[in-house]
Amino acid sequence: MKFGGTSVADADAMTRVVDIVRRQWESQPAGSPPPVVVVSALSKVTDGLIRTADFARAGDGPQAAALVDELLQRHNTIARALTTGQRADDLVKALTTQFGHLAGRVKALARAKTVTLADHDMIVALGELASSRIVASAFQEQNLPALWVDARDVLVSDGEHTIAAPDMDATCRKASQNLAPVTARKQIPVLGGFIAATASGVTTTLGRGGSDYSAAIFGACLDVGEIQIWTDVDGMLTADPRVVPSPRVVPHLSFAEASELAFFGAKVLHPATILPAVTKNIPVRILNSRQPRNPGTLITATVERDGHLAALACKRDVTVVDITSTRMFMAHGFLRRLFEVFERYKTAVDVVTTSEVSVSVTVDNTRQLDEIAAALRDFSEVDCEHRMAIVSIVGETLNEAPGLFAKAIAALGEIPLRLVSQAASRRNITFVLRDDDVTAAMTRLHEAFF
Ligand code: ADP
Ligand code: ASP
Ligand code: MG
Repeated sequence: MKFGGTSVADADAMTRVVDIVRRQWESQPAGSPPPVVVVSALSKVTDGLIRTADFARAGDGPQAAALVDELLQRHNTIARALTTGQRADDLVKALTTQFGHLAGRVKALARAKTVTLADHDMIVALGELASSRIVASAFQEQNLPALWVDARDVLVSDGEHTIAAPDMDATCRKASQNLAPVTARKQIPVLGGFIAATASGVTTTLGRGGSDYSAAIFGACLDVGEIQIWTDVDGMLTADPRVVPSPRVVPHLSFAEASELAFFGAKVLHPATILPAVTKNIPVRILNSRQPRNPGTLITATVERDGHLAALACKRDVTVVDITSTRMFMAHGFLRRLFEVFERYKTAVDVVTTSEVSVSVTVDNTRQLDEIAAALRDFSEVDCEHRMAIVSIVGETLNEAPGLFAKAIAALGEIPLRLVSQAASRRNITFVLRDDDVTAAMTRLHEAFF
C-alpha cells in the first residue's frame, strides 16, 4: 500500500491512513500477512528540500538552514499531534537530529557553493525518511504493530543520482532478508518510497514521483497479491483533472494502457510503476485516500471494455528538437549518430517523427539540451521549439477503430498540430502542439470521445 504526499500531508491525513491500513488488514482472511506500507514525503516537502539545495548551491547558507528549520517544525507539529508520551519524545528527538544534521550539511555546502547530484539526493531523501518515521509511530500509537524500515536497506539502485534505476535481483534479496521476516512476524513494515542506496550504501533517488515505483518494486519482490497506489483522486481519470473540468474514473485498464498513460503525462502513476507488476502479473489498484470505499481503477494484464478508448493524457512544457541532415537526404548511420547523442547525455526522447531530410523529437528533460544541440550540430542543423505539449489518446484496441483518427482531427479543428504519430503498438495516437493550446485540445477531445 503506497500513500502519496497529499495522503500523508498532515495529522488528519495520516489518521486516515491508519484507518485504511487497519481496515484492509482486518478484511483479509485470518492469518494473511499484513500489508507493507510505503509513503511519500509530506505534500510539498520534496519541493522544499529541492529549494534548500538551490539556496546552498547559490551560497545562501542562512536561507537554506531557515528552510530546513521550517520543515522540521512542520514535521514536529504533526509528530506531536499523532503520538504521546515517550513515543512522541523519541520521535521528535529523531526528527530533530535528522533535520539538524541536514542543516549542518547544507550550511557547509553553501560555503563551498557546490551541491553535487549525490548531495542533492542526500538532501531530498530526508522527506521520505522523516514521513515514514512519523507514519510508523502513528501506527504504533494506534496499536497497529508497525516497524519502521530504512528503505535504503532494501532498495538497491545504480549510482545515477536523481534518476537511479533499481537492481531488482539485489533488491529482492534484501527484501527477503529485511522485509519478509517482518511480515512473517505479523508486523507492518513502513518504508519511505523514492529513496534507495547503491550497493556501497550511497543514498540515491528514483526520480520525481518515484514512490509509486518503489511500492511496485517491493510488491514484485514479495510477490504480493495486489499493489495499491493511494492518492488524492478516485483513480485513473479519462483526462488530467487539472486540464479538463470533469473527467470520469476509468474502472479498468490494461498494464499496457496504464504504462502509456503514465508515460504520456498521467501523473497519478510514475511511468515505471507498471514494469515490476507486469513481471509478476500483480494487479495494481489506484485508490483515493479521502474516499477509501470507492472502487478506484484496477490495472491488470488484459481488459474488457465497451468502446476503444481508455483515457487521454497530456505532457506539458516539452521541447521539440528538429534535426535536419546537412546532406540533402539522410545517409545511413544518421539516425544512429543522432540517437547516440541523446544517449550520451542520458536524455530520453518521447515522440519521434521523420521525413526525408529531418527528424523531430520531443524531450521533457532539457537539462543538457545546449550540450545535445551542440553535439548534433557537428552533423546536422538543429532547431529547438520550447513550450510545446504532447496530447495522447490511449486505448488497447485503437487499431480496431479506423474512424477514430478522423474524429480526433475533426475535434481538434483549427488547433495547429506540430507532430502527429501513431505508435507501432497502435495503443496511442499522439499529437504535439503548443502548450498554450493544451486546454482547448484536451477539452475538445474529451467532449468528442467521453
Ligand atoms: P501522489 O502525491 O499521491 O503521488 P500525484 O500528485 O503524484 O499524487 O498524482 C495525483 C495527481 O495526478 C492528481 O491529483 C491529478 O491532478 C494528476 N493527474 C494527471 N493526470 C491524471 C489522470 N489521468 N488521472 C488521475 N489523475 C491525474
Ligand atoms: N516525494 C517524491 C516527489 O515529490 C516522490 C513521490 O512523491 O513519489 O517527487
Ligand atoms: Mg505521485
